[in-house]
Amino acid sequence: MLNYNRLTITYVNLQFNSKSMSEEKSLNFIEEIIEQDLQEGKYQSILTRFPPEPNGYLHIGHAKAICLNFGLGLKYAGKTNLRFDDTNPVTEDTEYVDSIKEDIRWLGFNWANEFYASDYFDALYGYAIDLIKKGFAYVDDLTAEEIAHLKGSPTEAGKPSPFRDRSIDENLQLFEAMKAGQYKDGAKVLRAKIDMAHTNMLMRDPILYRIKHAHHHRTGDTWCIYPMYDFAHGQSDSIENITHSICTLEFIPHRELYDWCIEKLGIFPSHQYEFARLNMTYTVMSKRKLLQLVNDGYVSGWNDPRMPTLSGFRRKGYTPESIRLFCDKIGVAKRENFIDLSLLEFCLREELNKKALRVMAVLDPLKLIISNYPDNTTEELISENGPDESMGTRTLPFSKELWIEQEDFMEEAAKKWFRLAPGAMVRLKSAYIVQCDEFVKNEEGKITEIHCTYFPNSKSGNDTSGLTVKGTIHWVSAAQALTAEVRLYDRLFRAENPNNEEGDFKDNINPNSLQIIPKAYIEPSLQNAQLADRFQFIRKGYFCLDTDSSPSHLIFNRTATLKDAWAKEIKKA
Ligand code: ATP
Ligand code: MG
Repeated sequence: MLNYNRLTITYVNLQFNSKSMSEEKSLNFIEEIIEQDLQEGKYQSILTRFPPEPNGYLHIGHAKAICLNFGLGLKYAGKTNLRFDDTNPVTEDTEYVDSIKEDIRWLGFNWANEFYASDYFDALYGYAIDLIKKGFAYVDDLTAEEIAHLKGSPTEAGKPSPFRDRSIDENLQLFEAMKAGQYKDGAKVLRAKIDMAHTNMLMRDPILYRIKHAHHHRTGDTWCIYPMYDFAHGQSDSIENITHSICTLEFIPHRELYDWCIEKLGIFPSHQYEFARLNMTYTVMSKRKLLQLVNDGYVSGWNDPRMPTLSGFRRKGYTPESIRLFCDKIGVAKRENFIDLSLLEFCLREELNKKALRVMAVLDPLKLIISNYPDNTTEELISENGPDESMGTRTLPFSKELWIEQEDFMEEAAKKWFRLAPGAMVRLKSAYIVQCDEFVKNEEGKITEIHCTYFPNSKSGNDTSGLTVKGTIHWVSAAQALTAEVRLYDRLFRAENPNNEEGDFKDNINPNSLQIIPKAYIEPSLQNAQLADRFQFIRKGYFCLDTDSSPSHLIFNRTATLKDAWAKEIKKA
């Protein structure tokens, strides 16, 4: 396997330009191979597969593999199987199987068949017997340490195990006894008999089967021997007649063994192709590490909105379209690189900007009282739901007492301050122009309310006041406002590459990745918000309902800020 910690980070300068998306894209290298294969009549149609191990939830890296495999199936009128690579009984679970299926469907893809490598345990066992009979496999009694020791190094040939030359009959008998449960875990393994001096270390008599007395999520206690990845993956591809088996670059050294098994067994010649995995800044993507974050309580679960999992992104408010757009933009390459998290946010904003309903919410409230507005009166104002007329309008209650943001008032106006300050005027979005007359401070020096005068003839859409103001601020009417909990998220890690730093990756966790606002004021139309709805809280960002929300306790997640907050930070620095 490649060591990611040592990889030099290459930043990909992708065009942050929506125009380039619609332009015809050139073929990626896998598409080129497929087109050639189809032209030459090597295959009548293609069959790809997505092969997750059900030992965790899918993350954004998997989305790249899903979009690639399913995308090829769709593009070339072929098919794509979903195959659970469930050959390790200890780490796998049906909870993961269910979540994986949900996430793939959510992304918008359908599989031709749902298969499990464990469905092939009998066939794989048969293949192992076949290899033994052909003299290509033997049972080894050495311990894992002894095997590793005799393997040699890249510069030094390995040494044969003393059990390498067992007779075919003895091997058959021992392998059967392994299957029958006569030995303890680790007592024996089945190894391929290839070449202990091979330049590819993986070809130095790799282990094909190991003993593991463990309960399997599907086959229960039927088996106590389990095939290794290299003796399950390629064979499963062959059994399914997969034409193009696409995996990530770290499997390049495995290809030789993949081909060796297919050749020695004489089974369907699937071919393996490798592409660069997706690495992203400010996050980790190994399921092992994500599981640690969950188990150690750094996050609330696999679907915590700060997680790079698809369920996390979904809960945070990401749409499948934005993730597919992202996967399309990053493309398929043969070289490892790091993609900046901000590209994913860019793709999200592209979409939400078009479809999010514009609403008003005040996150850090300050009371605004309109002195000359009649008491006990509510007006219903009309406001547009979005930039596109087809999004329609809604009514907004307006009255004497409003909530505005603390940050929209300044006791002493700075230069170019176009919001509220003593004597200053602003427009209240979709409503009237107001002028600030005075403010009230409490004993701690905190401003608790401001008093304004409104201009009745300045109503939005029917403004005859002749006044011009430069600032427009959002507000909600205090009497009708609902309250909601609002959760603001930031990056889960403060280091660009949390894996790359010295020490534990968890030391790089951003302690401020979640900020909870217990009581924000939101406009009453949000009472009917649905999980599928996407909102822009005007001037505050994109938001959606959280799955923890209930009608009596509304909870909103910030999906993204309106602009890339970090780009600003970088500029400032
Ligand atoms: P992890 O290291 O996160 O546990 P994995 O490779 O062990 O990932 P699998 O369930 O085996 O996870 O992955 C299923 C498929 O998804 C494989 O074909 C794998 O190559 C692909 N995949 C996994 N991670 C990425 C990634 N970061 N970028 C692209 N493809 C990925
Ligand atoms: Mg894997």
